[in-house]
Amino acid sequence: TAATIGSSLIPLINKLKDVLATSGVKSSDFDIPIPRMAVVGSQSSGKSSVLEALVGRDFLPRGCDICTRRPLVLTLENLHPNSDDNGVERGEFGHLPGDRFYDFSQIRREIQAETERKAGCNKGVSEEEIILKISSPNVLNMVLIDLPGITKAPVGDQPRDIEARIKRMILAHINNENCIILAVSPANSDLATSDALHIAKLADPSGSRTVGVITKLDIMDRGTNACNFLLGKVVPLKLGYVGVVNRCQEDINKNRSIQEALAYEEQFFHDHLVYNGVSNRCGIPRLAKKLNQILEQHIRKYLPCLKAVLKSRMHAAMKELQTYGDVVESKELSTKELFGGARIHYVFQSMFVKLLEEVDPCE
Ligand code: GDP
Ligand code: MG
Repeated sequence: TAATIGSSLIPLINKLKDVLATSGVKSSDFDIPIPRMAVVGSQSSGKSSVLEALVGRDFLPRGCDICTRRPLVLTLENLHPNSDDNGVERGEFGHLPGDRFYDFSQIRREIQAETERKAGCNKGVSEEEIILKISSPNVLNMVLIDLPGITKAPVGDQPRDIEARIKRMILAHINNENCIILAVSPANSDLATSDALHIAKLADPSGSRTVGVITKLDIMDRGTNACNFLLGKVVPLKLGYVGVVNRCQEDINKNRSIQEALAYEEQFFHDHLVYNGVSNRCGIPRLAKKLNQILEQHIRKYLPCLKAVLKSRMHAAMKELQTYGDVVESKELSTKELFGGARIHYVFQSMFVKLLEEVDPCE
């Protein structure tokens, strides 16, 4: 599961949780902030496909028509292996509390059914979110948001101002400064006019939290390739681009698994020599790695704050200890020595110093 998003950060987060637990810091004083990530782009650019590949599970409605018609707010929850259910992967919907789904294809059916309940059956779009939580020992605590794609002309039950409505809906999610934006553009259309990059820029003008994803490298016009896109020569992007090959509609119809798709993608980049020189910008595993680095920076950003909380706790604890006064120490009474004020002082201080080091080992 090298391709799964955030998985490499689970040890770091667990260590931080241990530090918080042993130091008795309350969640009201400090909480590890939960990162958010949203996919944006035009309809059928491959947003849901990218998200699914990053999670490593098949559960999102995908297809050539408008499939994602309500925002899906997907909370990934890291499950302790000894928790109830023995850490078995499962999903639970906000609208069906207590109902646990263990079969991921059933999760997809429920997303479709719930989409139809609020947005109808005729291509209608609703901004009411579908809330889904996936709990698994292999995921990092984070929130992923799958959004409807930008469309131009209304079809079916869509209102005349569908484009403006969808854009507003997308911006409401990605304006959050804590949200990493995956701007998904298909390689078989002009990147310079990409809806994804355009809307991402509205929410993140400096480009400090936007990652470009170029999909459909496998169906570009023969004789063309995406190297210039990936190198940022068409539209520069601070955090850069990653090119991917997801499953095509035939793969979906034939129920090809994510593992098969990843193997196919690897073979694709292996066979297409033009991508040799940019291999560090190619493939879902590479995208996952890049996102993990961004997530790690995001988490590290909060470490000075945690450090300050720990320091002030140490201060308070030492002060309290001083009010107890020193216990008279005697060479004969080793227990007294052990529990003497000076000794407690020492134990306390070294414990906190150790915690502080764990939080930020480089300092
Ligand atoms: P969304 O509307 O942006 O969420 O796009 P989907 O993920 O639903 O994909 C739309 C269609 O494009 C589906 O039929 C996918 O199979 C297809 N698709 C997505 N990514 C790729 C890709 O990289 N290559 C090919 N050939 N098809 C893709
Ligand atoms: Mg979609």
